[in-house]
Amino acid sequence: MKIRENIPIASLTTMRLGGPAKYVVEIEKPEDIPEAYSFASERKLPVFVLGGGANTLGHDEGFDGVLIMNKLRGIDIDAHEDGSATVHAMGGEVWDDLVAATCEANLTGIEALSKIPGTVGAAPVQNIGAYGQDVSQVLVNVEVFDTADSTFKTLSAADLGFAYRKSILNSSEYGRYFVIAATFELKTGQMTRPFYKSLERYIAENNETDFSPAAIRRMVSAIRADKLPDPAFIPSAGSFFKNVYLDDARAAECEAAGFPVYHGSDGNKINSGWLIEQAGLSGKVLHGFRVNEKAALVLINDSAESYADLAAARQEIIDTVYAKFGFKLEQEPVEIA
Ligand SMILES: Cc1cc2nc3c(=O)[nH]c(=O)nc-3n(C[C@H](O)[C@H](O)[C@H](O)COP(=O)(O)OP(=O)(O)OC[C@H]3O[C@@H](n4cnc5c(N)ncnc54)[C@H](O)[C@@H]3O)c2cc1C
Repeated sequence: MKIRENIPIASLTTMRLGGPAKYVVEIEKPEDIPEAYSFASERKLPVFVLGGGANTLGHDEGFDGVLIMNKLRGIDIDAHEDGSATVHAMGGEVWDDLVAATCEANLTGIEALSKIPGTVGAAPVQNIGAYGQDVSQVLVNVEVFDTADSTFKTLSAADLGFAYRKSILNSSEYGRYFVIAATFELKTGQMTRPFYKSLERYIAENNETDFSPAAIRRMVSAIRADKLPDPAFIPSAGSFFKNVYLDDARAAECEAAGFPVYHGSDGNKINSGWLIEQAGLSGKVLHGFRVNEKAALVLINDSAESYADLAAARQEIIDTVYAKFGFKLEQEPVEIA
């Protein structure tokens, strides 16, 4: 394993904020994992597992602990005669490289998840999703290191308790498992219509007729490039606030009051981006952070250098939305602490 000291968290996260991490330990082979946790416990330091840092924020004072990063690489596609394929990917792979490889192999299942930043290891953590697909629909299992008893295990998709942007890995068992690798079951073919609304709109506007995985990947990439900042060039952490979920009674009240309430398999929700937009915040720059004009849920770090600025911008947005609509927005990205 590779150990580095005093590495700015800003250089490891897409929001580009955060002081130094005392240690960064890179996992180069599975046997490094227990060693990395021992390295931290011997020094009585806390651990945070970091992937591509696309959903993670660093604090100004840094992290007096050990960031463990999965750098294990490798993608294997095992095609079966019935048209299905078992796809195994190591957790340190870039998620979008996996999507590209499966689209090239003409496999359907994750093509709509094109261009989601981050690693394969983090994908099941919040059950990444976009344009009608999410990881829970195709994940078979994950290989993990269990810090509770220091053993290597395989957890099935059912063990992971998937829900919308949720699994046991970011809720009840947060911090317990280090994801080493993931296995997916994909198949030859293509997504079935009707597709997600914005994808259908793109298809109509561009007279698209090919819906193969590679074509959907191209379309989704174009839609995302038009409205979402590319973290390689523009710092952000993706969606900064969670959507607002409502029980049935509250959903009925809100609908009667004119709010757009979506009724999905994950429950009744109001898109927080809509609330931010309707509160007049789209395009506003607050303490160095810009509310993205095309997707108001995304906060872009225009010129801020401190977490304190982010905290001030976040509060201003929460207060403005609360004053106008009475909903208290909650932050989505996790914090290294
Ligand atoms: C511009 C932009 C657009 C985005 N669009 C989407 C989208 O469309 N849909 C969507 O779902 N998300 C989206 N995201 C969020 C982000 O891409 C996902 O959350 C992604 O899975 C983060 O991957 P990462 O490797 O960067 O994880 P990190 O931010 O490094 O970590 C995220 C969480 O996973 C944990 N973790 C990371 N690796 C492991 C591991 N090996 N084992 C155990 N735990 C681990 C971390 O401890 C942390 O809690 C977007 C983000 C950005 C910046």
